[in-house]
Amino acid sequence: MVNMDWVRQEIEGLKNEGRYIPIRTIESSQGAYVKIAGKTVLNMCSNNYLGLANNPEVRKAAIDAISEYGVGAGAVRSIAGTMEIHIRLEEKLAEFKHMEASLVYQGGLLANLGTIPVLVGKEDVIFSEELNHASIIDGMRLSSAKKYVYKHMSTEDLEKNLKEHRKEGKKSIIVTDGVFSMDGDIARVPEITEIKEKYDTMFYVDDAHGEGVLGKNGRGIVDHFNLAGKVEVEMGTFSKALGSMGGFVAGSSELIDLLKQKARPFLFSSGLNPGDAASVLKSIEIMERDDSLIKKLWNNAERLQKGLREAGFKLTETKTPITPVLLGDEKKTLEASRLLYEQEDIFASPIVFPTVARGMARIRLMPSAVHSTEDIDRTIDALSEVWKKISH
Ligand SMILES: *Cc1c(COP(=O)(O)O)cnc(C)c1O
Repeated sequence: MVNMDWVRQEIEGLKNEGRYIPIRTIESSQGAYVKIAGKTVLNMCSNNYLGLANNPEVRKAAIDAISEYGVGAGAVRSIAGTMEIHIRLEEKLAEFKHMEASLVYQGGLLANLGTIPVLVGKEDVIFSEELNHASIIDGMRLSSAKKYVYKHMSTEDLEKNLKEHRKEGKKSIIVTDGVFSMDGDIARVPEITEIKEKYDTMFYVDDAHGEGVLGKNGRGIVDHFNLAGKVEVEMGTFSKALGSMGGFVAGSSELIDLLKQKARPFLFSSGLNPGDAASVLKSIEIMERDDSLIKKLWNNAERLQKGLREAGFKLTETKTPITPVLLGDEKKTLEASRLLYEQEDIFASPIVFPTVARGMARIRLMPSAVHSTEDIDRTIDALSEVWKKISH
């Protein structure tokens, strides 16, 4: 056998740098509370914004689809893996997003990896927001297009880059997260839709944290800004507010047609499981039927953010339910998360360097529609207690 000592050395290196991530195992379904190591804790760090991951109607839709279609698509979509339920989902998503057509992938990450290299290639140029998600960064790498990064939230810097570099590419695209997951702020989509016209540049928005949260009945960021028809490509995931697994892009019928010929996760990886497709269809139906879950999510978020500010905590400039509490010091932040978990039975994730800049460590709280007002108030009180102990 070949010497594999480097694996242990690399793990030790990560541990020494404080970058080794301990991974907890959840022993229950996702919800306001989860069981970890036999203990029930208040869950303040899932992306299950609307509670749909464990909604009874959604569960039933998945079970019914499995009874009818089985558990797997059996092949890649382009050979024998396109099932009627995929087509129904794609039509529903297009209608929900006010776009001509959509294409479903097996994950949001794969949607970015698959789509970006079809949109641009080595003769083209990408303008990428500084805080874009890792899956966008990897999708851009796979495209081989030349890339320029513009400063977070700065349409000025974006325009400066476009002025200087737009001509270097035949085609050109601006790619941004809609909602930034570490700060909860929202991209300046209306300004960008104007700038991109001036520079004949496509616009691609990753709406992973916007769906089910922003816009009418959770239609997402483009709807939130009333910009239907002004954005070339909207990408989304099924794994956050929609509660399941998978991803998609929406755009013109021709673009979707081309993606079916060229997007590698579509051509070389099997189709989405029918149960997942059915659960997403049901989640959208629930969101369209009434917006009470979305209202509840926002009420909880407002109560949490107001309460934390009144208790003296500093939050980021969040515009969404994502609630990052800025604590600054890395060690104290890790300690706060540990005490919340061990003494207060609250599961809340610490976010530290290198995910965010040094000295900007935070606890990121994720309220949801399935939390009660007592859960929210208890979180505020517990964090205050814990922080008093740490910073006295
Ligand atoms: C979570 C996330 C993804 C990946 O989605 P998955 O469906 O979990 O693969 C992509 N982009 C952004 C901005 C995300 O937050």
